Amino acid sequence: MKKSKTPTFLLELPLRVDAGQSRRLRAHFEAARCLYNALLGEAMKRLRAMRADPAWQEARSIPQTHKQERREAFSHLRQAYGFSEYALHEFAKEANCSWIADHIDSVMAQTLATRAYQAANRVCLGKAKKVRFKSKGRGLDSVENKRNNTGLRFVLQPPEEGNQGWLIWGKDRLEALIDWNDPIIRRGNTIRTEKLSYRAWQKRYGKSVGRNAPGMFLEQLRRTVASTGGTLSEFPTHSTKLSQYCHGCQTYVKKPLSERWHHCPCGIGPVQRDLYSAWLAAHLTPANTIPSLAQDSWEGADLRLRAAVEVLQQRAKEGQALPRSVGIPRAGARLPESLTPNRLELVYRHGRLEALG
Ligand SMILES: [Zn+2]
Repeated sequence: MKKSKTPTFLLELPLRVDAGQSRRLRAHFEAARCLYNALLGEAMKRLRAMRADPAWQEARSIPQTHKQERREAFSHLRQAYGFSEYALHEFAKEANCSWIADHIDSVMAQTLATRAYQAANRVCLGKAKKVRFKSKGRGLDSVENKRNNTGLRFVLQPPEEGNQGWLIWGKDRLEALIDWNDPIIRRGNTIRTEKLSYRAWQKRYGKSVGRNAPGMFLEQLRRTVASTGGTLSEFPTHSTKLSQYCHGCQTYVKKPLSERWHHCPCGIGPVQRDLYSAWLAAHLTPANTIPSLAQDSWEGADLRLRAAVEVLQQRAKEGQALPRSVGIPRAGARLPESLTPNRLELVYRHGRLEALG
């Protein structure tokens, strides 16, 4: 399937349905299943007829180098046998005029026709061996609509009217359960995160990446944020290098991975390096790789970040194991006493990174 060119969001919301609605939904899905199978059967019938035509073998025998000629021959055959998305849309109109039409509107019938055509077309192109009809037991697991202004659609109240959301299908209004009190949402819905290559992580850390599933977490976060109309943006790490940056002296100093604290001779720190990076990231503006900070913004932040570390230290003292990356050992946690010696200092000048001996 073609990738969509516009940004898309995926949002999952549970629905509250009563017994009657549930029964009607089952009937809708059953109608969709029957229609899909009918469309798939029709598409396969057309495909078989097209392939049985001697002209099909003739078209196949045209050398690959004669691109134009091949394309025209196949296109002519598809048209003659009605093997196209458009032709199947037309067929869906006829097939949908029985009892099924009480359940399935014309736009949804079109999306089912597209789906059936694409399945059959994969067989036609040799990308699949066969198509799969939907059995009554397995059923059709999803239906979709192309637009949100007719047929199956989602409506959301403006906040001043109650912020409630409904899925509308036929005569039913199905209440969506939206958790506006999601802890992430309550903290704001503009989220910035480093753009990370999960593949690179996997190479480096192997199984533990799968176990901790950072990609899955981020996907979940993205959906949650999208559900409130917020944004999640990713910024590149190699140009921002926040883990090396000190806003006090505006220099870049590379830390070994084992060094979990930022403590600069200029007086900034000690502060847990990830918390500090996150705070810097909150002050990144798009198109800028250096955080823009007001002089006085650090004082309050310093206190807040220290408080956050104290909470973690308390948890460590109580015996809770924290991720090693936090830099707080389980018992008797202490703040780092001093800087590690022999560091390489880097300065960022005029867009270039320079080492200071
Ligand atoms: Zn500094």
